[in-house]
Amino acid sequence: MSTLAGLKKFTDELSREDQRMPVLFMGHGSPMNGIENNEFSLKWETMGKELPVPRAILVISAHWLTKGTHVTAMDHPSTIHDFGGFPQELFDVQYPVPGDPSLAAETKALIQTTNVGLNHDWGLDHGAWSVVKRMYPEAKIPVIQLSIDYGQPAPYHYELAKQLASLRNKGVLIIGSGNIIHNLRMVAWDKMNVPNYGYDWAVELHELFNQKLLNGDHQALINYEKLGAAARLAIPTPDHYYPLMYVLGLQDKKDEVSLFNDKLVAGSLNMTSVKLG
Ligand code: ZN
Repeated sequence: MSTLAGLKKFTDELSREDQRMPVLFMGHGSPMNGIENNEFSLKWETMGKELPVPRAILVISAHWLTKGTHVTAMDHPSTIHDFGGFPQELFDVQYPVPGDPSLAAETKALIQTTNVGLNHDWGLDHGAWSVVKRMYPEAKIPVIQLSIDYGQPAPYHYELAKQLASLRNKGVLIIGSGNIIHNLRMVAWDKMNVPNYGYDWAVELHELFNQKLLNGDHQALINYEKLGAAARLAIPTPDHYYPLMYVLGLQDKKDEVSLFNDKLVAGSLNMTSVKLG
């Protein structure tokens, strides 16, 4: 390599490094956060204004669980209203962002450990749009979703995510959308409006998970089932937890870790969200 070519490669790498996108885990909570103004949704709006503007967004949502791994590859993903018992206003929400078939193809090519399917039927579920619409209300930035192969254990998702790391240098904002503590059966509906209300076990887990997130103790978070009875209450099923595995899999040594929307809700949920980088 000539000196000049070497220098160019070096400066290209430097500028890519500058533009490296953060990775987010978003606690999404109730679908109503998509339209209500509260501390959580207002924080999403602020983040949309403050983060470097992405070229495209890739979401791993707790609400797209599949056999095998799939990526949405249509030009125009539809807005999916995958919930019941909410006001009509929420069913009326549309988020007409473009898809990004070429990013879908690139994502498929990057993942070598399984054959990723190109999907043309899904769209954007509320785990994706409730958050992303608040961040980028103009609906100009393309959004794709990667599904969660629900038959696979936590380490599988953590390892799969590592293969997506190069997308961070290409202006792609990767978002895992779920909730770390998420036990819907135990929700204290009468305490919905009590700020930061958690059962004792939830408070205990909340502190433990946060400490492990901030310390980068990924092994403990991957092996959450070994964290005892409280962890089994916090994560009775792993659907809302697995998106966190994708985010942690993308963590780089250089990433700063910060928490936001770090609150307990209604006893058995938390909204704790993570920003890497
Ligand atoms: Zn959800």
